[in-house]
Amino acid sequence: MINSNKNYQLICGLEVHAELKTQSKMFCGCKNDPFGAPKPNIYTCPVCLGMPGALPVPNRKAIEWTIKLGLALNCKINLFSKFDRKHYFYPDLPKGYQISQYDIPFCYDGYLDTSEGSVGITRIHLEEDTGKLLHKTIDGKKITLVDFNRGGVPLVEVVTEPDIKSAAQATQYSRKLRNIIRYLDIGNCDMQKGGMRLEANLSLSETGDIPDYKVELKNINSFKFMEQAIEYEIGRQTALLNHGQIPIQETRGWNVDKQRSFSQRTKETAEDYRYFPDPDIPPLQFTKEQVEEWKKNLPILPEQTINAWRTKFNIEERYSKLLISSPRIATLLESIFTTALRNDIKPNNIAKEIVNKNIMFDHNSLPSDIITTYQQLHQTDDIVSDVLEKTIQTVIDVNPDAVVKYRAGKTQVIGFLLGQVTQKLQQKLDMKQVKTYLLKALEN
Ligand SMILES: [Zn+2]
Repeated sequence: MINSNKNYQLICGLEVHAELKTQSKMFCGCKNDPFGAPKPNIYTCPVCLGMPGALPVPNRKAIEWTIKLGLALNCKINLFSKFDRKHYFYPDLPKGYQISQYDIPFCYDGYLDTSEGSVGITRIHLEEDTGKLLHKTIDGKKITLVDFNRGGVPLVEVVTEPDIKSAAQATQYSRKLRNIIRYLDIGNCDMQKGGMRLEANLSLSETGDIPDYKVELKNINSFKFMEQAIEYEIGRQTALLNHGQIPIQETRGWNVDKQRSFSQRTKETAEDYRYFPDPDIPPLQFTKEQVEEWKKNLPILPEQTINAWRTKFNIEERYSKLLISSPRIATLLESIFTTALRNDIKPNNIAKEIVNKNIMFDHNSLPSDIITTYQQLHQTDDIVSDVLEKTIQTVIDVNPDAVVKYRAGKTQVIGFLLGQVTQKLQQKLDMKQVKTYLLKALEN
């Protein structure tokens, strides 16, 4: 039977993996820097190489960061949790199992809002990354090399409910998630290097109910490719359904050159990973107070700051969106805007100027980029100077007597004027700098 041109609703959930940028790996003391390593297999030890008898010790920071991410994504936190062994065989997994979390993830039942509706977060769990396989041709022979520098790197997995209804929404959700991970300063999410990986589970439904099949799009390393792959799948599955066929339950990859998805493997039923609690790692217990403390220390997220700046400083979203790149920068800018407001300078003009003058606050630039940070600080200094100069001018304008006295040689009035500037700005100032500016202004 051919049911042509029916309307189908996309039913899509995402699984996003992100590497955490802790100093050391998840269960050993090896350096966590797979991309900075000068040679393959140097950041390894008996634990991350899966030698018999080696004992894993969980990385406290990685656990704390996973919970922080969960709190930022409005999740509930399991006070009791544990690590489990997920068994499968692959050459990038020396133990024959991956340490992951099965039935009690650290975080569950959260959400992330998008302009197309809220996306429910089913769970966030922590696991270890696998090694990296490199396929090469050496002396005419096709071989595969394995590098374990990445093996054992902490990896969070954020799983959503099938709430996503369009390719654009999937992209928006993923971008937001990446921004939050970067804002919390817990991961670089460099997609080119595999620091963040996207997977989409999708099917089409006529009724809005979840269908019996789902197609898994795997190993996608860019937002653009994910959007293209989902669009392509909507077309492919629509054509099948219109011809009365049910798409096969399978894993598909995305061929960038051919702009089409391709079958990687079909799986009829769920694989049996034979999960069981890792007997080498004792279960973890957190207290309510501990979780409350983590919650209290979370930075205010960009979205809330954008709203606050709109109300307090009248700053347009198109600027604040670009400016809020880290909690440190946000705090710095907030103090600049507060000072500006007190001196009747329009913070929105300052925001506009920063955005127009530089590219350093670009969301795509890594917060760890030293040059970027330097330039940002330099930029900020300029604005501080700007505010300072304007304040000094105001002080001079309202104290003509003092200026007359200064010009008559009574230099002691400088102290009085400096006091007026300090009082007006109400913040820690470099007094040498203030004096230099003041003298310059008095000479004019
Ligand atoms: Zn190790």
